[in-house]
Amino acid sequence: MYLEGSCRCGAVTFNCDAYAPVPYLRCYCSICRKTDGGGGYAINLGAHADSLEVRGAENLSVYSATIDGQPSPAERRFCRRCGSALWVSDPRWPELLHPFASAIDTPLPTPPQTVHMMLADKPDWICADIRDGDETHDGYPDLSLRDWHDEHDLLG
Ligand SMILES: [Zn+2]
Ligand SMILES: [Zn+2]
Repeated sequence: MYLEGSCRCGAVTFNCDAYAPVPYLRCYCSICRKTDGGGGYAINLGAHADSLEVRGAENLSVYSATIDGQPSPAERRFCRRCGSALWVSDPRWPELLHPFASAIDTPLPTPPQTVHMMLADKPDWICADIRDGDETHDGYPDLSLRDWHDEHDLLG
């Protein structure tokens, strides 16, 4: 699925082709929550890294988190003017790009279920909206973005 996205101030716009365009996966880890999730979580999509086209790339900045004292190779790109979180990539999986659903302007499909991950890291003040048919995981879910989309016949 062809996706267009942008930061809030418009200094950065981008497009990419997503194989996993359904915003079903909510991550409550502190990195997602603090960099892209005031409501408690961020939603990652799956796209092909080589399809990414960026306008205003000079306005990008990058954040790599420290996890358990170790620097993470994952690169979180955001607009240095307005702070909008845009996407995550990782040199260990150079073919993958994970845009945040919050940065996407193209209407996204409505997910048939929500998978809540990293709930062990969720502070008590966040009332996770867990509905019938949802999945909950303290850590990582069983299925990758690609496998979940494949199982639901929703590969984009
Ligand atoms: Zn911006
Ligand atoms: Zn996370």
